[in-house]
Amino acid sequence: HLCLPLMAYGEVMGLMHVHLAGQGDDLRAVAGMAQAISEQVALALSNAKLRQVLRDQSIRDPLTSLYNRRYMEETLARELSRAQRTGQPVSVVVADLDHFKKVNDTHGHPAGDAVLRAAARLIAGSVRGSDVACRYGGEEFVLILPDCDREAAVAKAERLCADLRTLAVREDGHAIPVTASFGVAASPYDGHDADQLFKAADDAVYRAKAAGRNRVVVAEAPAAKEVPYETA
Ligand code: GH3
Ligand code: MG
Ligand code: MG
Repeated sequence: HLCLPLMAYGEVMGLMHVHLAGQGDDLRAVAGMAQAISEQVALALSNAKLRQVLRDQSIRDPLTSLYNRRYMEETLARELSRAQRTGQPVSVVVADLDHFKKVNDTHGHPAGDAVLRAAARLIAGSVRGSDVACRYGGEEFVLILPDCDREAAVAKAERLCADLRTLAVREDGHAIPVTASFGVAASPYDGHDADQLFKAADDAVYRAKAAGRNRVVVAEAPAAKEVPYETA
């Protein structure tokens, strides 16, 4: 038997175990070959791992580990074109933490970061595996909910809004309360393309802020457009 560590760039990636079946095999020759193979395999594993890490870094937000804005935009466009074929709705929920600047000013930036991470955990834990939860910007989050209609998206946003109210992150012995304002829009009625839909949800956030924050507002259906998808 031969055991060879799969080493690449000083890291052990695994172990290669070679069992010599024949009695007459030249152990030296086999060992040399096994060594060469183990080096190639270790390099390949290391490259695959690096690729995965880089891919993750390019689509995730480092503070919260949620998806980033770029990934959200790609996904929304993809889900909308898929939905156009299947006739299923896609909902977009935009959430903006309320008076978050005050959290930083009162408790400090690290505490603000802790609140962002806690809010992100709550948001990520509340969606299905096929949904996309992303940190869109500073204290703004976006959920893409494929196959989820307006009513279900509003219900989800209402639940999240209520859960956030009870979050009260503890930092330095202080409980930091946090609320958010939510905007909800759904295809096809609030928009067919990603820009329209996102803008409809974002506008709803502004109306939620104006109405006193800590609430969910649904997109205004412009001219009550009950327009179904055009079929080819
Ligand atoms: P509003 O209710 O109108 O949304 O008020 P707001 O204070 O939340 O909004 P504003 O846009 O004035 O401030 C957002 C704040 O979010 C300001 C910025 O310092 C903070 N912020 C953005 N990114 C981060 C971050 O990564 N960490 C921390 N701690 N704070 C951040
Ligand atoms: Mg904001
Ligand atoms: Mg805010």
